[in-house]
Amino acid sequence: MIRVFGAPHRYVQGPGALAALPEWTGRLGGRPLLLIDKAVRPLVEPALAGAYRGLPPVLEFAGEVTFAAIDALAAAGRARAPSVVVGIGGGKALDAGKAVARALGAAVATVPSIASNDAPTSKIFVVYDENHGLIGAEHLERNPDLVLVDTALIARAPARFLRAGIGDAIAKTFEAEAAAAAGANTMHGTPGLWTARLLAEGCYRTLRAHAAEALAAAGRGEPDAAFERVVEAAILLSGLGFENGGLSIAHAMTRGLTACPATAPALHGEHVAWGLLVQLLIERRAAAVLADLRGFYATTGLPLRLADLAGKPVGEADMALIAERSLAAPHARNTAYPPDMTALLSAMGELERM
Ligand SMILES: [Zn+2]
Repeated sequence: MIRVFGAPHRYVQGPGALAALPEWTGRLGGRPLLLIDKAVRPLVEPALAGAYRGLPPVLEFAGEVTFAAIDALAAAGRARAPSVVVGIGGGKALDAGKAVARALGAAVATVPSIASNDAPTSKIFVVYDENHGLIGAEHLERNPDLVLVDTALIARAPARFLRAGIGDAIAKTFEAEAAAAAGANTMHGTPGLWTARLLAEGCYRTLRAHAAEALAAAGRGEPDAAFERVVEAAILLSGLGFENGGLSIAHAMTRGLTACPATAPALHGEHVAWGLLVQLLIERRAAAVLADLRGFYATTGLPLRLADLAGKPVGEADMALIAERSLAAPHARNTAYPPDMTALLSAMGELERM
């Protein structure tokens, strides 16, 4: 059986890594076009201008990643003939950077300003319509040529973002295991190599050992050793784990949670964390396994119930909507225990009562 593994070409991480961006974009043809999140621009522009000795061409990004926005940004950048497009900011700015790079035939670099999910290392970008409705996931031909993670920048972001990144990452080992048990394909269209399972498991162990300490450092602007490890797990290990290991029920649940207005505003990683609890119940894991993970959630502040995601109790109609939409997600079948509506609603209800 043929199996495929993919990864970014280079991953660079450390405090002050932004200063090394010119060296790395120099290796990628030396004509960078920076696509910067409008909200993040004031935080990074002085460092970038200093590092490059004058700012390279910049496109500012705000709003939604729509096909119209991608076309407009690509049109604005085309005359620069960039060799590399550098997306700088949150997930949407990075996705916009990937999309513009593809449109212009340039290399892709991602510079995340938060560690709230694994998008920086991924070859996928997500496109929405004008009403913030998900249209679908597009795939680049390959993973980013460069992922540059300045942990001093990321340590200035509120702890909630890193907590969400931990929630997105903690599920990967369980999802890769479930996908493998179901014989499901990964994002590469083949079953996963064993390496992906090892990476996802290492991701889990790293988070269990260091997440609480890392969260204590989040927001202070001074990354310590635990913070470095957890950021690496939330971005690199988590990304490699999901693209190469496959997804399952935990991520399928995000389909329903984003369709329900009460839970939609929560962050992706918060959705995934709760979805993982559903997955473990569906898989009929031992009560001790669930209790252990719930203890970790309580320590780190991850959501234990739907009400934690919504900020208020979630009614039966909303629960039915979440279950129905989640079941329609392809990942919902990547398990040895494919749930039906009754099983899913029963698991969701059980969590609310715990
Ligand atoms: Zn995810």
